[in-house]
Amino acid sequence: MLYLDYLASTPLLPQVQKDMQKAWEETYANPSSNHTCGLKAAELIDQCKETIADEIGAYPSEIIFTSGATEANNFAIKGLAFALGKTNKHIVTSAIEHKCVLEICSFLETQGFEVTYVKPTADGIVTTEAVAAAIRPDTILVSIMHVNNELGTINPIQEIGELCLEKDIAFHTDAAQSFKKLPIDVLDMNLHAMSVSAHKFGGPKGIGFCFLRDAKTTTVEPLIHGAGQQMGLRGGTVATPLIVGLNSAVQNYQYDEALYKVIKVDLIKQLQSSGTCFKINGINALPNVMNLRFFDSKMVNDILSSQKYCVSQGSACSSKEITPSHVLQAIGLNAPEARNCIRLSFSDESVINLFKDFELKDTYVNAAYTT
Ligand SMILES: *Cc1c(COP(=O)(O)O)cnc(C)c1O
Repeated sequence: MLYLDYLASTPLLPQVQKDMQKAWEETYANPSSNHTCGLKAAELIDQCKETIADEIGAYPSEIIFTSGATEANNFAIKGLAFALGKTNKHIVTSAIEHKCVLEICSFLETQGFEVTYVKPTADGIVTTEAVAAAIRPDTILVSIMHVNNELGTINPIQEIGELCLEKDIAFHTDAAQSFKKLPIDVLDMNLHAMSVSAHKFGGPKGIGFCFLRDAKTTTVEPLIHGAGQQMGLRGGTVATPLIVGLNSAVQNYQYDEALYKVIKVDLIKQLQSSGTCFKINGINALPNVMNLRFFDSKMVNDILSSQKYCVSQGSACSSKEITPSHVLQAIGLNAPEARNCIRLSFSDESVINLFKDFELKDTYVNAAYTT
């Protein structure tokens, strides 16, 4: 099996596993306990918070640990919406956000909020101009993802941040796919909140964080009420070993951009020389991601039926029908077109002969389309 689904989740880095093992064995005390062992755990968490905050130009007190990016998105978007939306209730997001953000927004619509879903370009980018056009005098919050998880496309977060600063609107980004892959500075980007998940960059599942600006004095309500942990903003015993794993991933994950670029160019060359007709969905995507659309279903069927590859498809099967992903739909693809799409996301050169495996030259020639 060749795992080509690194955007869905990544394996634990060996060093992360080692660091977590040590934490499970040694730092099991409740970090809220007021004894030597508890204080030791609390101190370890504080150290982790400091290196994580450093990574994004935040204060340690602005890092709230969550179960992952889904919870961080819930905490940030609902929290900011309810805190800021006492009279004005308009929110701007995009049509290509992660499913959880769309679900959060549709919940907020049931609570009296109005949401504008900005359309991406056909290349899968949410432009600053499109966001600007969606902003109204009663807009209280903008939430636009940094990197799209299906296409790997990169949104102009810094520019959108400047726009929000100008208009004095709170700005949140889902950075689950960009953190540790692209530079992030919460001040430069004028972010009020940001969501991150550890298992997208070599860390464990079940942990992530929300950066929340001025968290100490925020009026954002907790999503999970508890016994006062994390400044009262997120109840529940703080998961020391998971946080150690998150922090270790922050310190040890390497995103080898140069290598991924070489691999991508090679894969494209293999496809081109095969004569198969394909198109890459999205423009200027992260180098370790390729969302490919074939004009002939044979390639996709062969890849999937070979059962040798773990890849993500451009469509999700519901009960009977195959519906295209909301992202592929938003960039203009219909159901049959989306069915012929696959997303490859990789981490090393093991992918390099992928298309050679399928002896493309003989089987996929179709001169009717161009790439
Ligand atoms: C994976 C992902 C999430 C969900 O993260 P979890 O930690 O698994 O809850 C949210 N947004 C984006 C863009 C993602 O890629």
